[in-house]
Amino acid sequence: MKTRTAVLYTPGEPIRIEEIELDPPKEHEVQIRMVAAGICHSDYHMVSGELPGYLPMALGHEGAGVVEEVGPQVTNCKPGDHVILSWIPSCGKCYYCVSGHSNLCNLGAGTLMGPLLDGTFRMHNGTANIGQFCLVGSFSERTVVSDMSLVVIDKEYALNRAVLVGCGVPTGVGAVIHRARVVPGSTVMVIGCGGIGINIVQGAALAGARMIIAVDIHDWKLEKAKEFGATHTVNARNEDPVAKAMELTWGLGVDYAFEAIATPETIGQAAAATGKNSTIVVVGLTPATAQSIPVSPLMLVLYQKTLMGTLYGDSQPLNDIPNLLKMYKVGKIKLDELVSRTYTLDQINEAYADLIAGRIIRGVVEFS
Ligand SMILES: [Zn+2]
Ligand SMILES: [Zn+2]
Repeated sequence: MKTRTAVLYTPGEPIRIEEIELDPPKEHEVQIRMVAAGICHSDYHMVSGELPGYLPMALGHEGAGVVEEVGPQVTNCKPGDHVILSWIPSCGKCYYCVSGHSNLCNLGAGTLMGPLLDGTFRMHNGTANIGQFCLVGSFSERTVVSDMSLVVIDKEYALNRAVLVGCGVPTGVGAVIHRARVVPGSTVMVIGCGGIGINIVQGAALAGARMIIAVDIHDWKLEKAKEFGATHTVNARNEDPVAKAMELTWGLGVDYAFEAIATPETIGQAAAATGKNSTIVVVGLTPATAQSIPVSPLMLVLYQKTLMGTLYGDSQPLNDIPNLLKMYKVGKIKLDELVSRTYTLDQINEAYADLIAGRIIRGVVEFS
């Protein structure tokens, strides 16, 4: 069948919206009619060329839709089911899946390679095979994914809000709850208040942190961070976040610092703002060319600091995606307030321009 899809051909050039050919689902695959897809920074790393991957690539990894057709052997969903796409498949069998870290499933290794898990492509334009970012390709009216790349959810949730539990919310909230395991009464700093950072703030509030220092360069995002539980804000254009963290903690430094901008410099700031027995959590994807970060190894020892990274917030999509929606339903998690603007598929380049300029926290592409 034909479908309209956002495809990147060359880094640095605009994403093209074009009609492409979509194959039917093979064994253990599912065709999905997309209802909503989130504008996440990770796709832009391919547009900017900071993240190398297969080209041409259908972008989009945060998505929500309705199952239209299932291939042979599919038992976990049926036509009409509402699903959230997961940008790391969960095989349920590898060492990481069975040890409670399906966010690190070995099948995730294929995420930037282009084809689906059997090594073949479902999207084509003439003779060209089109890859699917994170095995998903959610900026498409229709897509075909592995049955391991989706989670069925209750139909009571509006898909244009539920879509956010596909990436931004579990990555941010999970970094706090699952990875760092912030304890009540802690002091926390969050550098960067975009789609991931704001969810780290939300997670820290949920964990009972008594001080949450939000850092950004846009005052409006800092105001938004207060809505999500930030107790203090720092505009890094006007103030040094490290000095401010020290001042607010009476020179002790914060217990946890989360970095969601993904530059070596800001990771260094996160490390410098932490105190004794503290934890530094790197959440954002730095450019593949970044080789080192300015963190004092001496202070790691003297102050007994822990430096850690986290992928997908150490979340288990099959458990966390439905659970986050239940938390939303009872008012423990905010989703509606995350969406700054909605776009049509044709406005995809405008959406990314807004993201890069700091005009949105989360944008959502809504399919008609
Ligand atoms: Zn994402
Ligand atoms: Zn696995």
